[in-house]
Amino acid sequence: EGKLYLVATPIGNLQDMTFRAVEVLRQASVIAAEDTRQTWKLLNHFEMEGPRLISYHEHNKPKAEKEILELLRQGQTVALVTDAGTPAISDPGEDLVRAVIDSGFPVISIPGACAAITALVASGLPTRQFSFVGFLPRERKHRIKELAYWKRRTETLIFYEAPHRIRETVEDLLAELGNRHISAARELTKRYEEFARGTLEEFKQLLDEQPAKGEYVLVVAGCSPEEAEVEEDVWWRGLSVSDHVD
Ligand code: SAM
Repeated sequence: EGKLYLVATPIGNLQDMTFRAVEVLRQASVIAAEDTRQTWKLLNHFEMEGPRLISYHEHNKPKAEKEILELLRQGQTVALVTDAGTPAISDPGEDLVRAVIDSGFPVISIPGACAAITALVASGLPTRQFSFVGFLPRERKHRIKELAYWKRRTETLIFYEAPHRIRETVEDLLAELGNRHISAARELTKRYEEFARGTLEEFKQLLDEQPAKGEYVLVVAGCSPEEAEVEEDVWWRGLSVSDHVD
């Protein structure tokens, strides 16, 4: 019977590939990859020359999805991988998983590296409750609107960002959330892995001295419960201001 495997791959250090991930990729009839060149490198490293590769990325999703469903109907096993980390986490996969479930085929998740969790656990910020925000919208107006929502949340917030936008995002976080604690994880699992822990203002200053290089996850403290109450109050009063006569 056809099955879809979601296979997590390393986010830098190739040793983070799991034994099970190697085994599943070896045995899959077809590997659907976000970028086939990138995946070839991984396959070569683990000396897997056999598997057939097809591409599944943001821009060919509907067509590739049909192809994958057809393979599953033929009884083949398909393994989905992205360039790095866990598929469907700020990466293609979500739509395919839904389509495969709707078509009645099993979806099997092979766990492994995920930058968000890797950054969170070493952040020093509360891990009991957190929200994965991922990438903020590109357009400023939408970013600010989204941050206005997260501002009232008390759990730890996890952001992804492209290297050339880190500076701008940190400025927006500071302006919209206030001077909270941040743990910025850079180049996780790689040679120059680094954590910058402090306040958003301190991190902004650090970026002035040494501009952002490499990949970052930004882990930001949630709103304090007291602040959340004040926010709630302001919100409530704002809504009912016309009811107050005194
Ligand atoms: N699917 C991936 C995962 O499971 O983490 C995320 C892919 S997303 C397109 C890429 C973003 O993840 C980067 O912009 C960065 O924010 C974060 N990221 C990925 N690898 C990283 C690393 N080694 N160190 C720090 N951040 C990383």
